Amino acid sequence: MIKIEHLVKNYGANCAVDDVSFEIAKGEIVGFLGPNGAGKSTTMNILTGYLSSTAGRVSVDGINVLDEPLEVKRRIGYLPEQPPLYLDMTVEEYLIFVYNLKGCTLNRTKHLEEICDVVKIKDVYKRVIRNLSKGYRQRVGIAQALIGNPPVIVFDEPTVGLDPKQIIEIRNLIRTLGKDHTVILSTHILQEVQAVCDRIIIINKGKIVADELTENINRVADGNRRFRARICGPQREVLNMLGDRSDISFVEALPQRDGDAYTYMIESAPNVDMRKSLFYTLAQKGWPLVGLEALGMSLEDIFISIVDKTGESARVGKKGGKAHRGSKSATDLEKDLAQSIIDATAEAQKSIAPYDGED
Ligand code: ADP
Ligand code: MG
Repeated sequence: MIKIEHLVKNYGANCAVDDVSFEIAKGEIVGFLGPNGAGKSTTMNILTGYLSSTAGRVSVDGINVLDEPLEVKRRIGYLPEQPPLYLDMTVEEYLIFVYNLKGCTLNRTKHLEEICDVVKIKDVYKRVIRNLSKGYRQRVGIAQALIGNPPVIVFDEPTVGLDPKQIIEIRNLIRTLGKDHTVILSTHILQEVQAVCDRIIIINKGKIVADELTENINRVADGNRRFRARICGPQREVLNMLGDRSDISFVEALPQRDGDAYTYMIESAPNVDMRKSLFYTLAQKGWPLVGLEALGMSLEDIFISIVDKTGESARVGKKGGKAHRGSKSATDLEKDLAQSIIDATAEAQKSIAPYDGED
């Protein structure tokens, strides 16, 4: 359905998109995940025909964006990072305006009614867009993208600036749309892709660093395996023993306690399975292992692992963690990543004009 081959976009000396290639099949919901400045919007703007590329080829339904931009635009509904709303229009006026602009031939009343039903904006249909909340404006932006029933929908950071309830509503809406559309959404929020997408493409500094089914994404990152262990025995001694093992790269005592069983978070060293050996050691010491639960890797861990591998870990702070041994715990990494995202978001907000200003 969508094919991007060796796409490059330079802004002067700055390479925003660096040899990006991927294909998206009909009906997929794909998350385009990456930190601020990774090249997500640039790629989406090129895909939707709003920006020219420096090199490479982009086609939708076999049609080259450069050869037939109008045909491509007809097949794509696009919600850019800044929804293209006219704040002085009512929702109704605006949607009719877009309907005419797109040269839509479907029955207007019926089509707009169906869309308003799907995106749940019927109750604000007669209201002036300027007076709507950010959540409602975002829905109007989505409605605009759906006019003309395009088979492909592209959303650029659709939940930025929304409150948690609105975020859930928009995610549900995207999931509903995914049932009969091909959807690409960009985000810098890891849980967003996990919640909504079948497949995740991770982009960093203009390059694709991972492209995997959401359920397989764990395989992208190697080795770092986390367990929660419950062990009966003196906490300090158990902790020292765990910390001294070469097959464990990190251990931390957790606050949960159940009788003489203490809980520990353990990360095994890459590519080793320490479970059996740990069991025998604990048995020898007379410290019964009463629980061992694999925690899997969070997307945060995976993201950091991938970004680290590509040598671009500078965004992630290097604060000292509570690690018992040299390595950094997954929770510390998550905190650092969260902080880097907060910093990046604050930075981005500085450069965005206030929403209620003159558009
Ligand atoms: P994302 O959407 O992933 O945050 P962008 O595609 O907006 O990233 O930006 C990718 C890179 O290109 C960034 O380094 C950004 O500063 C740069 N960039 C984006 N738009 C322009 C522009 N119009 N002129 C110059 N540089 C730009
Ligand atoms: Mg962007």
